[in-house]
Amino acid sequence: MRIVVPAGGIGGARFLRGLKAALGVDAPTPGEQSTDAITVIGNTGDDITLFGLRICPDLDTVMYTLGGGIDEERGWGRAEETFTVKEELAAYGMRPTWFGLGDRDTATHIVRAQMIAAGYPLSAITEALCDRWRPGVRLLPMTDDQVETHVVIEEDGKRRAIHFQEWWIRYRASVPALSIVGVGAEDAAPAPGVLKAIAEADLVVLPPSNPVVSVGSILNVPGIREAMVDKTVVGVSPIIGGAPVRGMADACLTAIGVETSAGAVAAHLGADLLDGWLVDEADAGTEVEGIEVRSRPLYMSDPAATEAIAGAALDLGRELAGRKGGRG
Ligand code: GDP
Ligand code: CA
Repeated sequence: MRIVVPAGGIGGARFLRGLKAALGVDAPTPGEQSTDAITVIGNTGDDITLFGLRICPDLDTVMYTLGGGIDEERGWGRAEETFTVKEELAAYGMRPTWFGLGDRDTATHIVRAQMIAAGYPLSAITEALCDRWRPGVRLLPMTDDQVETHVVIEEDGKRRAIHFQEWWIRYRASVPALSIVGVGAEDAAPAPGVLKAIAEADLVVLPPSNPVVSVGSILNVPGIREAMVDKTVVGVSPIIGGAPVRGMADACLTAIGVETSAGAVAAHLGADLLDGWLVDEADAGTEVEGIEVRSRPLYMSDPAATEAIAGAALDLGRELAGRKGGRG
């Protein structure tokens, strides 16, 4: 079974770990080709250039999580991380100081910077980095083009656009977002392999990632959503009982005029795209026209619970694919 997963950072990565377990996909032994059972289309809308380094938070979170290098407590960055480089940069008066750039993580960014300088596209760079981490999935950036999510805020009566990372990390999304814009999205093309992976997929699974700035950014790359519409698509709600499980996805949903509820997110994603939607037991009874909604526990509290959620998404996907018949 070939599965495509458009994923953000922490929620996406944790779900993918459960999906690998549910499918029995183990990390390939060194020297073996990475498995092609799961293709991840990673969000690059959060990417930012700081200190001359191109940083790809969501790609790295997926890579570190599936490759065993993640800091489990924080959910992002490297395990056993130190922050000497960050302190030294601050001592030079370098800005910004709000971004958590770890020492071990910096090595990843130096490799990426060197390859960018040598002319490699992000997809090739990501593949090279995954050579070390062996995430056991094929990890593709959504695009090789530069797309950056910006947030329009109002301060002292003046409107200005800031990078999503500044709004999310520095302001903790506490300043209302007037709009959220994917700068460069309209002119972006899907990265090599993305459309082919979707075309060949038996199932597309939307993990519990941020529906606006993670899944939304991926679907906004021209061609990606359109390619998925013909497929069987099931999703896992990132919203439980009217609130995000972690993070501030509610602030993102409010910015685009969507209510923070499992049903509203499904309706926003659209019945033309979504065939099935898993909601938590707290949201049992949710109905969305044209979408098969099922309720079950959706907290990824431990590996077994996460595997069971992924298994339920696969079961629903198989069932709905059967109903769709030859239409894939
Ligand atoms: P980010 O890029 O690190 O913000 O991560 P993602 O976009 O992949 O995922 C963030 C989303 O995951 C948030 O909206 C959370 O509500 C959701 N999430 C986190 N943990 C859980 C969980 O245990 N269960 C569910 N259903 N959603 C979760
Ligand atoms: Ca992210």
